[in-house]
Amino acid sequence: MLKKTQSLEKVDILVVGGGMSGLMAAMAAKDEGNSVLVVESSNVLGGQGSAGGVAGFCGDTKRVNSIFEELIEKLAAHDLIAEYDPNADRRAYDLEWFAFFLQEMVMIRNIDVLLHARVTDATATDGHVNSVRISTAGEEFICYPKFVIDTSGVNVVSSRAGFPLINEGANKQLPMSLYFTMWDTGKKNKPILPPECPQWHNDEEIPMTSLHYFSSGKVEIKMKVVGFDAADGYSLSQAEIAARRQMIGLIYFLQTKGYQNKVLDTHVLASVSRTIGIREQNRIVGEHVLTLDEIRHACVFDDGVAVGTYHTDFHWPDKMQRAGTGIMEMLDPYQIPLSCFIPKGVKNVLVPGRGASAEQMAMSSFRVMATISQMGFAAGKAAKQCIQKDIDIQKIDISELKKEIEAGGQSLDLSFYGEYLKDIESFHKDLLDKGKA
Ligand SMILES: Cc1cc2nc3c(=O)[nH]c(=O)nc-3n(C[C@H](O)[C@H](O)[C@H](O)COP(=O)(O)OP(=O)(O)OC[C@H]3O[C@@H](n4cnc5c(N)ncnc54)[C@H](O)[C@@H]3O)c2cc1C
Repeated sequence: MLKKTQSLEKVDILVVGGGMSGLMAAMAAKDEGNSVLVVESSNVLGGQGSAGGVAGFCGDTKRVNSIFEELIEKLAAHDLIAEYDPNADRRAYDLEWFAFFLQEMVMIRNIDVLLHARVTDATATDGHVNSVRISTAGEEFICYPKFVIDTSGVNVVSSRAGFPLINEGANKQLPMSLYFTMWDTGKKNKPILPPECPQWHNDEEIPMTSLHYFSSGKVEIKMKVVGFDAADGYSLSQAEIAARRQMIGLIYFLQTKGYQNKVLDTHVLASVSRTIGIREQNRIVGEHVLTLDEIRHACVFDDGVAVGTYHTDFHWPDKMQRAGTGIMEMLDPYQIPLSCFIPKGVKNVLVPGRGASAEQMAMSSFRVMATISQMGFAAGKAAKQCIQKDIDIQKIDISELKKEIEAGGQSLDLSFYGEYLKDIESFHKDLLDKGKA
């Protein structure tokens, strides 16, 4: 039986969203003197990295922080993650074990978790969030947190408290994709194409699709879905419905025609990720807006608390069909300042992760899991300091924060990250091998 640390109505730090940025924040923030509650609307921790089906880290996984390293070690101990290769764009891991190890890492730290629970409202006075409404499977209650870390991606706390948000909207947001798997049954399948589902005739017509073939006979498939706003409830629902139809049409295509002439005539649908994969919803308007120009020039900031190591990755939001790798520009490592996590004028909320304050192309680079893990870690340490000293985020001692972040194994020195994705030739070969290009 799991024990609540204290009343869930009065927590020190409320973390909204149990994806990588939220969990890193929760684990970095937790100490014996504070209480931390994670509220997650799905049934599992890990966010896009589990429920969204992503199953691979991008960004330099060797140099994140001690908590991320702990997770890697647990996966590596059982061969559940690919070897580190500085020239590989992505480091694949076993999705369900990732979710399990993360869950246990959170549990052992005495962090309270509410699954199947959703933040539905928030109130604020003078830039201070006072109350957050939480709806669980069986009840609704008001939580009065001292500090909030909102990693919901849709930025529900800022949205409900009336803080300004940026929403690019349908066909401008980085597009969604649905992950699903097929298994080789060894027997001829019987393809089905219900009338609601699209029929495609050749590789050029199908939605952008990446297939990863495993020796076990499993094929992991990522399929692009365009035309919807992931921050709009109705549009997101429509996206899930359209994605299922698209998926059935694509399975029919793979079973009958085959992508690149590889017909999957003995494969059947095995599983579909719990939710459509969401790359972008809302971004806050923060104390600082990280620009593409800044990340291009490997900027360093007085309040730099995390390091981005990944290229920009745009994905052509309005094109369903294959339109190239999505990679726009290789980048040198760059710093991300704490002021990007602070909604303008707000005193007790931080937004690390894909909802942070930035231009869209800057976000397209930092949204990957190694980087948002650094952002979450930094936000957690910042929240911890605010609770310890009973101060607003604006009063934080930045040099003390940076020291604590570095003591946690997260280097802020850009030269530390030199080796990742620097051998461009090997990097391009890796993309071709994985069929991404
Ligand atoms: C198709 C796709 C492929 C990708 N490929 C890669 C890749 O190969 N490697 C890589 O590193 N990155 C990849 N990314 C990006 C990366 O997975 C995400 O950007 C990252 O995982 C986001 O983490 P997060 O914690 O910021 O947000 P999320 O993982 O989205 O977590 C937000 C959480 O908040 C919860 N939530 C939302 N609203 C509420 C609410 N009101 N109350 C409570 N909880 C709420 C959600 O259920 C979710 O679990 C990919 C993304 C997608 C969509």
